[in-house]
Amino acid sequence: MEQHICQGCGSVIQTEYPDEPGYAPVSALEKDVILCKRCFRLKHYNEIQDVSITDADFLKMVSSIRDRDGLVVHIIDIFDVNGTLLSNLPRITGDNPIILAGNKLDLLPKSTNENKLKQWLRHEASQLGIKIQDVVLISSVKGNGMDELKQKIERYRAGKDVFIVGVTNVGKSTFINRLIKESTGEENAITTSYFPGTTLGFIEIPLDAETFLVDTPGIVNKQQMAHYVSEKELKMITPKKEIKARVYQLNEQQTLYVGGLVRLDFIKGGKQSFICYFSNDLTIHRTKLENADELYEKHVGELLSPPYSEQLDKFPPLTAHSFKVGKGKTDIVFPGLGWISIQGEGATVVAHSPKGVSVTTRKSFL
Ligand code: GDP
Repeated sequence: MEQHICQGCGSVIQTEYPDEPGYAPVSALEKDVILCKRCFRLKHYNEIQDVSITDADFLKMVSSIRDRDGLVVHIIDIFDVNGTLLSNLPRITGDNPIILAGNKLDLLPKSTNENKLKQWLRHEASQLGIKIQDVVLISSVKGNGMDELKQKIERYRAGKDVFIVGVTNVGKSTFINRLIKESTGEENAITTSYFPGTTLGFIEIPLDAETFLVDTPGIVNKQQMAHYVSEKELKMITPKKEIKARVYQLNEQQTLYVGGLVRLDFIKGGKQSFICYFSNDLTIHRTKLENADELYEKHVGELLSPPYSEQLDKFPPLTAHSFKVGKGKTDIVFPGLGWISIQGEGATVVAHSPKGVSVTTRKSFL
């Protein structure tokens, strides 16, 4: 039988197992553009379907880059660096040169110092033992940095293939769609969605007669908030435009709730500012620490939402992570959601995040 490839996600089309990757009804094979059921649903109904593929399978597939020769473009989400920079990248890509592309630049405040941000990204990569050739800041939605990245890709690939590698949800599909659109004018070549895990299988797009741009499956990072919320909630918490910093002057023993998703308790320290960087649609509530538990019990799903009330039984309980922050600006980062910058008088804080979602700290780059 002739082999068909889904033009959305690159999976090999099969017509027998509806819950596995690449399933399409036999009738779909007659169409000009063949899509698996999953991509078809996504494209026409904006609806996400889970397919059963394990992280180990993802890793095994992507690691095949080790045995190939080319340039790796590692796309990360600068809004969620800790959650999207792949610590095992050298293992995945072998000796191939790497360009680090920090995506979603459009979300950061305009005042962002890009050089400082690039330096910080280099530093983070080198801490993980990742050797990079170059760092570029881009917005695949708005187009910032795309020309610079295209030039650097041409320079470093030296006539070889280009592998696009990244955790799900960093904007890989959006980036490739944009590249394709800019080079051919064709829109929607690869499915873009709010949900992680859309791209299954390698998709090879010819760059010239001999070489390809290769879209690789996104490796799922289970510590991302995206895995613990519904599609509707994810749309709400995903920032869509420049984030407006929201500043709170807090005294010790005060608490901030970001929706009902995460919470930060200021336990001890002098009065200081806490600057919140989250989607502008998310409501932030300030309360006294002594009232914080009760407020949550009474109002989660309503005043404190998302999570929305119909999702409460699926939303994990909040768990506490304690941090002592020294002098100097420090960010408390909630991967995939945003961060709170503490202005550096020294503070003891407790960050609460849904069980399974990590919390990290870093020196501020803003
Ligand atoms: P993939 O899983 O890595 O292929 O990610 P997608 O391309 O599907 O993008 C995931 C989400 O991030 C979608 O909601 C995109 O609209 C959004 N996104 C991608 N690139 C950008 C960007 O440059 N800026 C902003 N604001 N959103 C982006």
